[in-house]
Amino acid sequence: MNLARIGCILIFMATFSTRATEDLIEKLAQDPRCARAIDWIDQNSDWVTDQQARLSEIPAPEFDESRRGAYLKKTFDQAGLKAHVDKTGNVIAERPGSNPKSVVLVVAHLDTVFPAGTDVSVKRKGTRLEGPGISDNAAGLAAVIGAARAISDSRVATGKTIVFAGDVGEEGEGNLRGIRALVESYGARLAAVIAVDGASSDHITTQGIASRRFEIRITGSGGHSWSDFGAPNAITALARGIVKFSSYRVPDEPRSSYNFGVIEGGTSVNSIPASASVKVDLRSEEESELAKMESALRDAMQNGVREEIAATHALGDSLPANFRSLGARPAGKLAENSPLLETVRSVDQYLGIRSRIERSSTDANFPLSQGIPAVALGGGGKGGGSHTTAEWYDATGRELGLKRIVLITLALAGVQP
Ligand SMILES: [Zn+2]
Repeated sequence: MNLARIGCILIFMATFSTRATEDLIEKLAQDPRCARAIDWIDQNSDWVTDQQARLSEIPAPEFDESRRGAYLKKTFDQAGLKAHVDKTGNVIAERPGSNPKSVVLVVAHLDTVFPAGTDVSVKRKGTRLEGPGISDNAAGLAAVIGAARAISDSRVATGKTIVFAGDVGEEGEGNLRGIRALVESYGARLAAVIAVDGASSDHITTQGIASRRFEIRITGSGGHSWSDFGAPNAITALARGIVKFSSYRVPDEPRSSYNFGVIEGGTSVNSIPASASVKVDLRSEEESELAKMESALRDAMQNGVREEIAATHALGDSLPANFRSLGARPAGKLAENSPLLETVRSVDQYLGIRSRIERSSTDANFPLSQGIPAVALGGGGKGGGSHTTAEWYDATGRELGLKRIVLITLALAGVQP
């Protein structure tokens, strides 16, 4: 058989199976119990927005998500789902299907990037909500609550068990510890993972960006700014290293990035600092590029130290640069022909959503790296200013995002007669 014919057959098969899935979604949406879930969304989207505002006002800095988790647990309990908190801090509500050996996990992260003490009060102006974390990830959590409530109230019976969860440790130095624990605990039972992160309903994140994060600390002997002048300075050495790495040419393909995010050091204006540190985030679509970036970063820091020692004529002094890992996220990619992707696309087709494929660093990274089908989707509505105190969310059109998540979840779980 020639290649063109094989190509034609493959295209035919793909079109045929997509068509079949689209028909399935249409039938699913018309099922009276499923229609009840959809109806619930139209009736209760303001309630979902209220939940979002309340969650967003409960501080949830990295490693301190338990108060927000407790509120989430209460909303799951009120939806008639039995919820519990695992030893990692994840809030888990299971809705058993007829086949408990197969699980669809719908999860949103509880944590925010904002440290304790940040004013997280929410200002509401009509459909617009403003406050740190209002989109990332109060929007995702509210969507999981809305989906859980809509599905629970509709009394639809499913084949697979649906697990709704709020997990810890997605942001910053959490190193995905929440999703790691969930994947470990459900193991081979996980048929699909839907991570709901942020707002919007027009993207499908199918590729997890790999990242490596470090704290680099340079230490020296320090001293008095006047009497010890000429001794190597840990802050200057660190700054030299940062400037050196900043000329590293990051490729467009594979897309890669770096960020020096937090810098600390020194004790007083008239002391030569004995210690200085910086936190850096390296990302790439490819592990191989990430390895190159890490090695360039290590070289840059060593060269910065050498230059500082040479400049201060303190050749006998040492100024060690110590790298401490703050976490590594594995890369992963959902196959183009995955049934999960086909389901999402068919639901989008049914709802009239023109979605685009995206790459990002989310809770989906970990299951994808383990070969478990996973996507990250937005919770609906619109948002912006993520990871800044000027973050905002607009609830206009949030129903569409909620319907999308409910239909995808039910299609994957399989509705039983
Ligand atoms: Zn997020």
